[in-house]
Amino acid sequence: RTVYLNGNYLPETEARVSIFDRGFLMADGVYEVVSVLDGKLLDFDGHMARLKRSLNELSMKNPLSDEEYLDAHRRLVRDNDITDGLLYLQVTRGNPGDRDFAFPPEDTQPTVVMFTQSKPGLADNAGAAKGIRVVTVEDQRWRRRDIKTVQLLFPSLAKMEAKARGVDDAWLVEDGFVTEGTSNNVYIIKDGKIITRELSSDILHGITRAAVLRYAREAQMAVEERSFTVAEAQAADEAFYTSASGFVTPVVEVDGARLGGGTPGPIATRLREIYLEEARKAAI
Ligand code: PMP
Repeated sequence: RTVYLNGNYLPETEARVSIFDRGFLMADGVYEVVSVLDGKLLDFDGHMARLKRSLNELSMKNPLSDEEYLDAHRRLVRDNDITDGLLYLQVTRGNPGDRDFAFPPEDTQPTVVMFTQSKPGLADNAGAAKGIRVVTVEDQRWRRRDIKTVQLLFPSLAKMEAKARGVDDAWLVEDGFVTEGTSNNVYIIKDGKIITRELSSDILHGITRAAVLRYAREAQMAVEERSFTVAEAQAADEAFYTSASGFVTPVVEVDGARLGGGTPGPIATRLREIYLEEARKAAI
């Protein structure tokens, strides 16, 4: 694989980052994930807008121009022959040359890394056809989940707990209300209405979420942005999650309660079709 590191395109085995990099020592960095279908980038502008917001919230410089990000994405897709897959972009506060809680001097260059993952058939994965099963886990993350930081230890632990309990993912719960999945935004459908938590610093502002809610409203579907409880989720007609890598993926079981007979519901299935069709059309 060819990867990008600070302006250079290198074989992955030659890309090296300092042991003093703030990303490594303090999880002091942000990231984005863009999906690739048919060699084209989905929702690219939205992901770049969120990257800049995340950097800004952490007082980090934006190291590249929009054009440079786009060129690098396209070059990695081409050089790695990616038809369907994902592109990860990570920016850390760089290497101050030693360990210190205080931010490094202004002129410290951020570390910028990009790499691809090839995922043939990304848009027709088994989870989407069968629906996935989730368990709920107390949300123990920090309070700024609207910033897409590389601090992914808690979601990783929650994912492992879900696997240990024999299901696919965990839904995180705070004060009795579902926040989001380990790496996705979550939705329930009751009596034809799509319900998803409102935007705040409690959740990541999903780029796929924004697109899917727009398409749902354009298709005259009812949308309500509010928090919902685990009990409401268990009594829902359908459920699904959204993310750049999973698009719209049906959820058919929450803490052992089967939704809609345990198979993907019609609204989630329809939204997945609409999202994939529209996102492919708009891909660059
Ligand atoms: N919430 C969390 C915690 C996530 O990690 C992700 C995926 N990065 C999402 C939501 C979905 O965001 P997006 O649609 O932009 O991929």
